[in-house]
Amino acid sequence: NTFAEIDLGDALNLNIRRCKYVKPTPVQRHAIPIALAGRDLMACAQTGSGKTAAFCFPIISGIMRGHFPQRPRGVRTVFPLGLILSPTRELSIQIHEEARKFSYQTGVRVVVAYGGAPINQQLRELERGVDILVATPGRLVDLLERAKVSLQMIRYLALDEADRMLDMGFEPQIRKIVEQMDMPPRGERQTVLFSATFPKEIQRMASDFLSNYIFLTV
Ligand code: AMP
Repeated sequence: NTFAEIDLGDALNLNIRRCKYVKPTPVQRHAIPIALAGRDLMACAQTGSGKTAAFCFPIISGIMRGHFPQRPRGVRTVFPLGLILSPTRELSIQIHEEARKFSYQTGVRVVVAYGGAPINQQLRELERGVDILVATPGRLVDLLERAKVSLQMIRYLALDEADRMLDMGFEPQIRKIVEQMDMPPRGERQTVLFSATFPKEIQRMASDFLSNYIFLTV
């Protein structure tokens, strides 16, 4: 039971070794194979459980090794393939930093966008291209309204700390974001939802956004 036994692609496996991760944590051990098999997932995970890697590895691996339609280039709208939504600026920055280490020399580019900071630097980073966007819901809605980002080509969606996003009142923004992904022409999308608690509102979100999902508690 080591990461060396999980084939995530050479470049990603190498980065995992560079990060000195040897053994998967319990949530990683269960969530990663489920996600690699293409299933939607709702997982119970606390801070410190290793959930960031649990949702990042399958997305990076999938984008690194997958074949996707050509994305429009040379326009001022970018078309990420993966989206990670998180409740706060701090958590988004943290996820971005980890995802960047995992994606080093994989050819997968990760960009972060969060509120409470000037948008211009974030726009410049986006314009250089993005495969995986890490974002807070409010800032992403802003980017969608400015037509800087299109979610038409999203194939991987991760909702991190979904219960906290709801507590912070982000449900309308999250619904707006997912609606954009569901507009035609929509392709296959894999969705994973991580949460520490499972009130009715989270269960409703799961039944609205996930299809035929596995519920994981470790
Ligand atoms: P997280 O719950 O994603 O915030 O991760 C908590 C901390 O554990 C972070 O500092 C990670 O870098 C670290 N971590 C995650 N997975 C592993 C692992 N399999 N082996 C060692 N450290 C890990």
